[in-house]
Amino acid sequence: MSNMYTRLINQQHPLPEGYIPEHLVDIGIPFDALPGDSKRLLEMKTARAALRLISASQRDGLSLYGVSGYRSYSRQKQLCTGSPYVAAPGTSEHQSGLALDLSCPAVRMELVEEFAHTPEGIWLARNASLFGFILRYPKGKEDITGVPYEPWHIRYVTKPLATYLTLTGLTLEEYHQLPQHRKSDNPIQ
Ligand SMILES: [Zn+2]
Repeated sequence: MSNMYTRLINQQHPLPEGYIPEHLVDIGIPFDALPGDSKRLLEMKTARAALRLISASQRDGLSLYGVSGYRSYSRQKQLCTGSPYVAAPGTSEHQSGLALDLSCPAVRMELVEEFAHTPEGIWLARNASLFGFILRYPKGKEDITGVPYEPWHIRYVTKPLATYLTLTGLTLEEYHQLPQHRKSDNPIQ
């Protein structure tokens, strides 16, 4: 399949209405939601990568928690209230199972900009790419992503692409606009 992990999902590139990712799992990462809650679900490879990421952060003495993983199309529709942080149904990466919002007790498990200044948020920004994730909505790229700065939202794109995007500072939007020959410099394409 033309790599689902590198797929661009945004306002202009929505997922199909009935899209449900294959192999959604609750792999048991620390989560600010009770077992059985569907927001704990992630696509299988994403879940494994998230588990490695959180385990590594724990070894560094940190307390990262999942706040929101998978979100179904219908759930997204219920949540969509016109807030700039809440994407229209089909345009949320959370519907793909490839995105995860993280927080920590220092900011009361909230999804707030202050998270970026906690040890957990700083660690996440520095280390997410080692596990195949990018900070999908960086500061200063709001005009390109169309989404406000979200230091808590990570997206699984595989390690080679996460490394490439982190080194170049490109967003997923900018990456998808590159000419094909530039993309082919990237080992995964
Ligand atoms: Zn998110």
